[in-house]
Amino acid sequence: MPRLTRPAPPPDADARRAMPPVVTYAVENLPPVDFAFLARLREGMETIDEVIVPPREAGAFRVPAGHVFRVVSIEGPQVGDLNLWNAADPTEHFWSGKTRALAGTHVGVGDRLWSNLPHLRPLATILHDTLGWYGFDADGAGVHDVIGTRCDPYTNRLLTGTDYHHCCHSNLTRAFAGATGRSLAEAEPFVHDVLNVFMCTGFTADTHRYFMKASPVRPGDFLEIFAEIDLLGAISACPGGDCGSTHSSDAVRCHPLRVEILRPRPEALRGWAPAVANPYPRSHGVTG
Ligand SMILES: [Zn+2]
Repeated sequence: MPRLTRPAPPPDADARRAMPPVVTYAVENLPPVDFAFLARLREGMETIDEVIVPPREAGAFRVPAGHVFRVVSIEGPQVGDLNLWNAADPTEHFWSGKTRALAGTHVGVGDRLWSNLPHLRPLATILHDTLGWYGFDADGAGVHDVIGTRCDPYTNRLLTGTDYHHCCHSNLTRAFAGATGRSLAEAEPFVHDVLNVFMCTGFTADTHRYFMKASPVRPGDFLEIFAEIDLLGAISACPGGDCGSTHSSDAVRCHPLRVEILRPRPEALRGWAPAVANPYPRSHGVTG
């Protein structure tokens, strides 16, 4: 496909490109993460519930504030597309974009999962990650991205002209509808950009395009997340399986995921309180 030619660079192009990068948000001003508290939480947690998410389906689960959920790889490498909602008001949900802007393209232990405006509070905090060793590889890829949106049947129709009904978007829509008693049409707008649990992704060095590669996750690996408010969650076992080749079809091998709900010891939660909504008064500069 022919590409547009680039305009000739101006004489001071090198100088313009040499300006130093500045991290966009002063994240050092966020409330500090209490890693000692997070470590204490993990001691003596008790499993109180679990959900098995079948391949190419999604499962919904509820996590009371101050509890933990654990996404576990079982049977084989599998990526999970995660949505989180405020259980009391699902119009408040995980905001992948702001989480990316504050924490980076991939999340790990101590990173908070922020909610959309006008709430902007940590819905959850990542507690433990058995893939924390991975870091960024030679391709620039990391795990647990907040870049991708979720595979969906609309993009699939656009790119292939065919319909596939087990994309993560549809799986999450059915799961949210089932969990909340809403119709599919009512449920669909609540589905939002995901946290790609276990997915290994980055941007290509030459064109900065979003790429994926086979997830390093193996059975027994898990990601633990602490609920900062009462949460409704849903996770889709992506039809891409380990997302090493393709998605939005039945072409690749997929595996189930297990979600465990865990209760920390009451004494481990001493001094902790659920996250409160952002105090910005919402006047937007208009007085009276
Ligand atoms: Zn997917």
